[in-house]
Amino acid sequence: MKKNFFGQPKEIIFCKKCVESNQRFVSSVQHKIIKNQVKDTALFDNQGVCYSCKFFEEKEKINWDDREKEFSEILEKFRKNDGSYDVLVPGSGGKDSIFTSYILKEKYKMHPLTCTWAPGMYTDIGWINFKKWISNGFDNILFTPNRKIHSLLTRLAFLNLCHPFQPFALGQNSFATRVALEKNIKLIVYGDGLSERAIGKINLNDKKKNTKISRWHYKKREDEIFLGGVSLEELQKKYGLSRHDLDPYLPISEDNIFDNSIELLHITDFYNYHPQKNYYFAKEKKTFEVNPDGRSEGTYTKYQSLDDKIDGLHFYTWFIKTGRGRATDDAALEVRNKIITRDEAKSLVKRFDGEFPKKYFKDCLNYMNISKEIFYETIDSFRPDHIWRKKGKKWELKKAVWHEK
Ligand SMILES: [Zn+2]
Repeated sequence: MKKNFFGQPKEIIFCKKCVESNQRFVSSVQHKIIKNQVKDTALFDNQGVCYSCKFFEEKEKINWDDREKEFSEILEKFRKNDGSYDVLVPGSGGKDSIFTSYILKEKYKMHPLTCTWAPGMYTDIGWINFKKWISNGFDNILFTPNRKIHSLLTRLAFLNLCHPFQPFALGQNSFATRVALEKNIKLIVYGDGLSERAIGKINLNDKKKNTKISRWHYKKREDEIFLGGVSLEELQKKYGLSRHDLDPYLPISEDNIFDNSIELLHITDFYNYHPQKNYYFAKEKKTFEVNPDGRSEGTYTKYQSLDDKIDGLHFYTWFIKTGRGRATDDAALEVRNKIITRDEAKSLVKRFDGEFPKKYFKDCLNYMNISKEIFYETIDSFRPDHIWRKKGKKWELKKAVWHEK
């Protein structure tokens, strides 16, 4: 049975400027929660240019000195002078959380607490980077979810949504806010370049609105939440999970956030985010090591998403559902940052996109308690008809950006 219920546009289009595809899901959160549909896919203007590229055009007009000043003024409002925590930085110890925590501590003399929702399966390099980050002078709260529950939810998310990352993504999403509430910290600063990658209409001049985007999931009603593709009721009845087991994955009510006047900011609204610059910054601080294999599977970069053994599979399932994978994501961003040309991006996509994540394949199967046969059966059942065709025993993309002349 075909499980393609994500509802992307049937006509596949690639951005004229980068290599992004209109098959991409805009909000990584939305399709993870809602069972049967994606509300939005990547948007293009009538010239065939994606909104991420348009976002970069807007970025060039920004006066970043003004933005930094504004950032500094906001921090003043939250600064505590008794040395207690005044800002929370969620992160894994990757280049973006390193950048954000150092800037806050060293440049602005704030007192950050860092917090981390542990990956399901730490890679060696992920654990090394995490320890290095923390041992450089940061307090950290590391939350490791119940392994049995997390692996069951990961299994269900793979089987029902072809999205093994969903439980992690959901848990991580509300985790920082939970810590902020518990520790009475009123400011959360996210370090990731989310707005650079999320494809939608993001208004750089309306930071409040961007903040609201990140609050989106807090508005969800519980009957709309399908953790692992299963309703909360069924998870309790059929799988014997308790409400307490599910709590870490569920949204926090919006009222709770507003009543406690918690502010969520993205540092990318105030600093001109650049993945390579952040990487060099982290390297200079000697707190970050790149992928020891030289590059990550499915792409050509060596410094993004290194900490979870399931990362490779996550990006692979993304490729199955949308026909665009991790290399597309990385290459599109590098085109926008003028690191590579569109033609170079096309050949990188051709070469690396959709590479099978074999390095931790067995670990992933064990973690999800799934046989190889069920794995491939599930994967194939999620290949949308308008994206894939089968030639003999081989699957191929009906339309790829590198097919263009
Ligand atoms: Zn584009």
